[in-house]
Amino acid sequence: MLPFIRSDLAQFTAYKPHPSNDTAASVPAQFDRLDTNESPYDFPPELKEKLSWTYQQVIETNRYPDGGHETLKDAIAQYVNESAPLSSSLFTAGNISVGNGSDELIRSLLIATCLGGEGSILVANPTFSMYGILAQTLGIPVVAVDRNETNFEIDLKAAQSAIEKTQNPPIRVVFVVHPNSPTANSLTAAELAWLRSLNEHILVVIDEAYFEFSQTTLVGELAQRANWVILRTFSKAFRLAALRVGYCVAHPEAIAILEKVRLPYNLPSFSIAAALVALQNCTLLLESIPQTLSERAKLIEILSQQPELQITASAANFIYLRLKPNGFYSQDAALKTFHQKLRTLGTLVRHISGGLRITVGTIEENARTVNRVQAALANLEF
Ligand SMILES: *Cc1c(COP(=O)(O)O)cnc(C)c1O
Repeated sequence: MLPFIRSDLAQFTAYKPHPSNDTAASVPAQFDRLDTNESPYDFPPELKEKLSWTYQQVIETNRYPDGGHETLKDAIAQYVNESAPLSSSLFTAGNISVGNGSDELIRSLLIATCLGGEGSILVANPTFSMYGILAQTLGIPVVAVDRNETNFEIDLKAAQSAIEKTQNPPIRVVFVVHPNSPTANSLTAAELAWLRSLNEHILVVIDEAYFEFSQTTLVGELAQRANWVILRTFSKAFRLAALRVGYCVAHPEAIAILEKVRLPYNLPSFSIAAALVALQNCTLLLESIPQTLSERAKLIEILSQQPELQITASAANFIYLRLKPNGFYSQDAALKTFHQKLRTLGTLVRHISGGLRITVGTIEENARTVNRVQAALANLEF
């Protein structure tokens, strides 16, 4: 350990976005890449052409990007208004902050709330790992509660008790994903009632990364709840994972704080341009959603016929499955073999929290997923 490094960092390992991928930084194209929940569809060629024109004619690479993001924030606010059943145009640029992926916004929220020993965060595992990882790199304690093993609902009793008991520092932020990753379930009425019951000293972060697939949003509640923020991203339905754009919708005072802690030129000009083009063409880009949803239903229906598998409902663009408990084999070892076999057959999926998370891909990819899951299970030696 280098002598000048913070002592608590010694125990961390660097985040590997593709843990299933042992060596290569880039995955060979012959794999079906169903391990990171991206859209299977690239940006359409006509929109790429528009962007190349912008790159060639508009962007001056020697100049810093627009650090205020006003145009992009206006466009995002309009999209948020249109995407929710709101009676009026509730949101304006003052309700929006943009980040280099929602990961940056998660870090900014942590800096603004918990840093310096002021707060801990609460998560319900399994959930999106970045909340815990980013908190730990900032020296922020992470309190984790469990979920029900069958329907993946948050253990609300444990969550409430953690909030009441955690001291030095108390819980300042609760992170939830709606719908959750990796388990694909939306927040239930009981979970929502609990989130609404939290007092205003606790920030509630609702990550709607999969909103375009779930079509359920809580932005309509933000007006009544100054302690809630909603995160969204261009990395999933909008097909821009490569360009790293996320946004936060919140009360203007919370946005003002986020603006204080963010890096001055956090979004490259090209990413800003791409997000704008995406919003201007959102009807075209989101046309693929119904297909993803019907493919998801098909995948769940067919794979549910496998007696070894336990699959829960999904409100997102991925499915989550586990091996049914069976006295004969170790779940962990069998799942590892299952995951590895899928990889050998050419499909990358995410092995996470005792299950496999599989992104819904193209029609062809999903057909191969079914065949390969069946083949891997047939050869699984327990
Ligand atoms: C994919 C995903 C994101 C997106 O992160 P970016 O940094 O915007 O790419 C955020 N939250 C969850 C839960 C996700 O699954």
